[in-house]
Amino acid sequence: MNTKIVKAFGTEAAHVPLHLMNIKRRELLPHDVEMDILYCGICHSDLHQVRNEFGGATYPIVPGHEIVGKVTRVGGQVKTFKPGEMAAIGCIVDSCGKCEYCEDDLEQFCDEGVTFSFNSPDKHLGGTTSGGFSETYVAKEKYVLQVPKILDLASAAPLLCAGITVYSPLKHWQAGPGKKVGIIGIGGLGHLAIKIAKAMGAHVVVFTTSPSKVEDAKRLGADEAVVSTDAEQLKQYNRKMHFIIDTVSAKHDVNTYLNLLRHDGAVVLVGLPPEALEVRAFSIVTGRRSFSGSNIGGIAETQEMLNFCGEHNITAEVEVIPIQQVNEAFKRLLKGDVRYRFVVDMASLKN
Ligand code: NAP
Ligand code: ZN
Repeated sequence: MNTKIVKAFGTEAAHVPLHLMNIKRRELLPHDVEMDILYCGICHSDLHQVRNEFGGATYPIVPGHEIVGKVTRVGGQVKTFKPGEMAAIGCIVDSCGKCEYCEDDLEQFCDEGVTFSFNSPDKHLGGTTSGGFSETYVAKEKYVLQVPKILDLASAAPLLCAGITVYSPLKHWQAGPGKKVGIIGIGGLGHLAIKIAKAMGAHVVVFTTSPSKVEDAKRLGADEAVVSTDAEQLKQYNRKMHFIIDTVSAKHDVNTYLNLLRHDGAVVLVGLPPEALEVRAFSIVTGRRSFSGSNIGGIAETQEMLNFCGEHNITAEVEVIPIQQVNEAFKRLLKGDVRYRFVVDMASLKN
């Protein structure tokens, strides 16, 4: 297969800082869209994977899966994109397209295994896919998304992973008027969950370990915000919450939050702590509660989320950095020192 060499930022090992490298992109197939990447968000999952925290990472890794860019070329069969238009790519760039999950627009659960935009077996080039910390991306039209024109592109980039990851469970568990929705952890995912849950009409209660985020959570739209290390404050919410989205990236006690649920309520884990979490029997048998999880969202739902955010003018609060500062940004993300998403201005890769 014909390929093109482009510049990227990646690493060969968990302990090696990201640095400039060359990668291959495939030449256009009839259904492919090629884009110049303008912005790429930095998700905590990029950090988990670069550091091989889940095990099984295949190096070199070029991370980045919150990608917005400008279409440069399209294959002969492409119908929905033209050169010059803006487009976006999130976590998913391919799937089998024929299993029951793909047919139900749940490509993230594809029977044959979904192809993620980075560090996933590459069906075309062999090896693994390279993500958005690069000059260009080439993907099948079906997996390329439209960004509503009203949204600022840099602050829209985080919607491609953080946005859909919280939109999908908020919709599935029916966030809306009359529902008390909890959000644990105010980082990239959590701060977008506040905005989206509010736009859906829910009453939003934030649980944060950072006292300095309490007022900020309210500015972002939360009705109430609680310091989760204060047992007295937490007690007021016992048996009050309809459901709670848990975005915490490290090991923590989920029983504390299960106890805040009403009967039939659920704590929905979207965070990916590498260690196992313990659920005590009485945390869930009492009140028929559930401990559940959710993983990104399918392509149709990701487009629906982008349209919803366009209608409600929802984007992330971002700190835009050049790619040369990505290692520093990873260190700060690990310490929770970002309000609330780093986004790389990919023009800096040309420097
Ligand atoms: P992030 O920006 O680092 O936010 C995580 C937040 O969790 C922090 O801001 C902090 O909030 C809280 N936190 C961190 N360490 C904690 C600890 N030890 N104890 C308690 N709270 C802690 O990360 P993100 O990009 O939003 O991602 C969050 C998690 O979701 C990551 O594990 C990521 O890999 C995962 N993720 C999953 C999916 C999926 O499809 N399921 C998709 C994307 C990301 P406070 O300061 O408010 O306490
Ligand atoms: Zn992500």
